[in-house]
Amino acid sequence: MDYNVNSEGFYGEFGGAYIPEILYANVENLKNSYLRIISEDGFKAEFDSLMRDYVGRPSPLYFAGRLSGKYGTRIYLKREDLNHTGAHKINNTVGQILLAQRMGKNRIIAETGAGQHGLATAAVCALKGLKCIVYMGETDVARQQLNVQKMKMLGAEVRPVSSGNKTLKDAANEAIRDWCCNPSDTHYIIGSTVGPHPYPDMVTRFQSVISREIKSQLLEKEGRDYPDYLIACVGGGSNAAGTFYHYLNDMRVKLIGVEAAGLGTDTDKTAATIHLGRRGIIHGSRTFVMQNADGQITEPYSISAGLDYPGIGPIHANLFVTRRAEYLAATDTEALNAAMELTRLEGIIPALESSHALAVFGKKKFKPADVLVLTVSGRGDKDMDELKIL
Ligand SMILES: *Cc1c(COP(=O)(O)O)cnc(C)c1O
Repeated sequence: MDYNVNSEGFYGEFGGAYIPEILYANVENLKNSYLRIISEDGFKAEFDSLMRDYVGRPSPLYFAGRLSGKYGTRIYLKREDLNHTGAHKINNTVGQILLAQRMGKNRIIAETGAGQHGLATAAVCALKGLKCIVYMGETDVARQQLNVQKMKMLGAEVRPVSSGNKTLKDAANEAIRDWCCNPSDTHYIIGSTVGPHPYPDMVTRFQSVISREIKSQLLEKEGRDYPDYLIACVGGGSNAAGTFYHYLNDMRVKLIGVEAAGLGTDTDKTAATIHLGRRGIIHGSRTFVMQNADGQITEPYSISAGLDYPGIGPIHANLFVTRRAEYLAATDTEALNAAMELTRLEGIIPALESSHALAVFGKKKFKPADVLVLTVSGRGDKDMDELKIL
């Protein structure tokens, strides 16, 4: 079994490219050129040099001694929170801006939830002098003011979206609408392993720098290049996909994704798509979707704006049905408690998204000899309003 995408753009029964006719040429062009462009020597050299000197990679693999002591196991944290702009999102936006440039696009659009992807997109657009428009739900504009201000300072235009729940799904709808109107000069930088093929695979490849580094860092620290467990939070699934990528077909490594239960998977205030979703199509991809009995997409809820999405990357839908990976769900409260615990035990304030992954220690028991690598996808600065209630 191969857990990567096949030549038709599917992960098992999931993925594909279900798009309106008007986008066909764009998506087809991207599909036919991305693998060639990203394997060119010039592309790789510029990507690697920006990863090192702009993003600040490799991100450290930190042995969390006090956290390990508390849970009686060996916990390493992959520190994506230390990246430029504060999260893993920048790995993907650097890759996609280099691709857009080589495809002759001079206008960039993006959607954002928590603002981390919008921020990372605005930064690389400033870096390359390209026009940048970020679609963001009005609810998120209100709750993520710091990132909105940063995006504007970087020269991006932030367009508030007032449809639906006024969150991530609605921002993505608006970005797709824009792309339909401007297919020739515009590249749409999608922020997660979602959307039509080739986006899920392309984003996974750019994020796979995470697991490439884990391999060499673990070899140095543990004398073996694989852990027993990899753990990451899952919104659309990009930090998790990047964390899993180089271990997908290595069965010695157990994979755990943690999604957002919101107020609980037994309530309707939740974003636990793998637990509660059914097969459907969202933003061009066949996957699990939160929907009502009529197939209408329902509004997700999570305290964390970055996990508040009613779909899930098709790679994860497939890892779930094939049982290659295990998926847990953490509530708002469990995530907040895990954030506080990491802060007090290690002096690291994690993003609320990453805190869902950290909640795994309250849900699952590990052995003393187990080596765990947990990806801290981002830092908590943007979440201080939610975190200060503690
Ligand atoms: C966007 C974001 C996420 C969720 O996105 P994935 O594609 O699932 O990784 C998780 N953590 C942080 C810090 C984010 O900004």
